[in-house]
Amino acid sequence: MSTLLEAEGITKRFAGITALSEASLQVGDGEIVGLIGPNGAGKTTLFDCIYGYLRPDAGRVTFCGEDLIGRRVHTRARLGIGRTFQRIELFTGTTVRDHLLVAERARQGTGGLWRDLRGKGGPTSDEQERVDAILDLLELSALAERPVEALSLGRARLVELGRALMIEPRLLLLDEPSSGLDGDETAAMGDVLTRVSQEREVAVLLVEHDVELVRSVTTRLYVLDFGTLIAQGTTEDVLGDEAVRKAYLGST
Ligand code: ATP
Repeated sequence: MSTLLEAEGITKRFAGITALSEASLQVGDGEIVGLIGPNGAGKTTLFDCIYGYLRPDAGRVTFCGEDLIGRRVHTRARLGIGRTFQRIELFTGTTVRDHLLVAERARQGTGGLWRDLRGKGGPTSDEQERVDAILDLLELSALAERPVEALSLGRARLVELGRALMIEPRLLLLDEPSSGLDGDETAAMGDVLTRVSQEREVAVLLVEHDVELVRSVTTRLYVLDFGTLIAQGTTEDVLGDEAVRKAYLGST
């Protein structure tokens, strides 16, 4: 398996607080890798350094061998990095289909966003087909014309995932996709992530608190605690590690 993403020695400080200290991780082509750790451990900070929202104070990030430091967020998206967020950001009054169409227009880089979809530049059949394929993959076809506010949180999270998939990423950065979901919705999310990764040949770096979800979808794990990597390895080994259980799972 070839390396897709490599973050090496990432350090990030905020006003004297070291949020991350020399953290390194790798994600291979098509792999689903977890990044776990207690609240405030630095997981989102590492995501932001990889995605380009934050510039690390030290360290390197490469994707498909290309140096990402200093590259803008949209360049990273064009290279094939998609992302979803902990806090859901959807637009009320617009449909599931519209959300995906806007993401498709953004991928094309033609600058046509909401205004175009609503005004002169209606979607082409090619755009509709691409959106239909993602709706089908995520089992959202029956809900395509619903306004997003009519959806359950679980479905809304799938719309976010769909949006990220429209850019045809090779790597998805998912920040707590189970946040706010109940047990059934979380299990369904796990099935979707596995299917999406396999069918679209997309690698996933997953920040997640739900241990069962982590166990069911990831093959490897990294554990952050107070900004430092304290463990890495196969999911089974890491979840069985005593130091990890103490720091993260709260058991002795
Ligand atoms: P959670 O699981 O709660 O989302 P996390 O592991 O994602 O936590 P981060 O959000 O990366 O943790 O935060 C790591 C540390 O950096 C925390 O101490 C946090 O307060 C601090 N921090 C994060 N962003 C900023 C910022 N913009 N300014 C100052 N401090 C920050």
